[in-house]
Amino acid sequence: MRLVFVGPPGAGKGTQAEKIITKYKPVHLSTGDMLRAARDAKTEIGVQADKYMSGGRLVPDGVIIGIIAERLKKDDCRQGFLLDGFPRTIAQAEALDKMLSEAKTPLDVVLELKVPDEELRKRLSGRGRKDDTPAAVEERIKGYHTITSPLLDYYGKKGLLKTIDGLGTVEDIFSRIEAVLDASR
Ligand code: AMP
Repeated sequence: MRLVFVGPPGAGKGTQAEKIITKYKPVHLSTGDMLRAARDAKTEIGVQADKYMSGGRLVPDGVIIGIIAERLKKDDCRQGFLLDGFPRTIAQAEALDKMLSEAKTPLDVVLELKVPDEELRKRLSGRGRKDDTPAAVEERIKGYHTITSPLLDYYGKKGLLKTIDGLGTVEDIFSRIEAVLDASR
């Protein structure tokens, strides 16, 4: 199964991604996790990326597309993958389409996890991650609406988009996801 997981910061993508991985066994490809690992290891990309991440801004498309292109070439991705946090811009989505159509491995489903902004602010203020300062949180929510949400239309037009209500318990939300994934297998 090849999936893209889209949702605003704080929607609970990470938590639900773990549950999807456990049950359906795709490889988890989180660009946020990859960038945090690069930052902590102080690689050149990591040091550059941190300047954007700490302000809640997106890392430039060219950088992130390069990272994903390399990662998707690895053998383990043949068992399927869950892209978490990528694509986040139309340019990234177009680059992904190109990679996947060249490899003849198109996406099966794009899951949108939908949560109102007020709830996101509440959740993010309690999370305590390095890039969860109030200013960075606002920047990321704003960035989601202006830069990332056009992806919903992009994938909607391709007939790939499935929207999941992201309010409720972790188990409630996962049941909604299971219903969609089981129907698309
Ligand atoms: P996340 O854990 O997905 O919220 O990502 C944390 C931060 O990493 C984001 O706020 C961005 O600065 C950066 N980042 C992660 N994925 C991407 C992406 N696809 N494009 C650009 N920046 C990204």
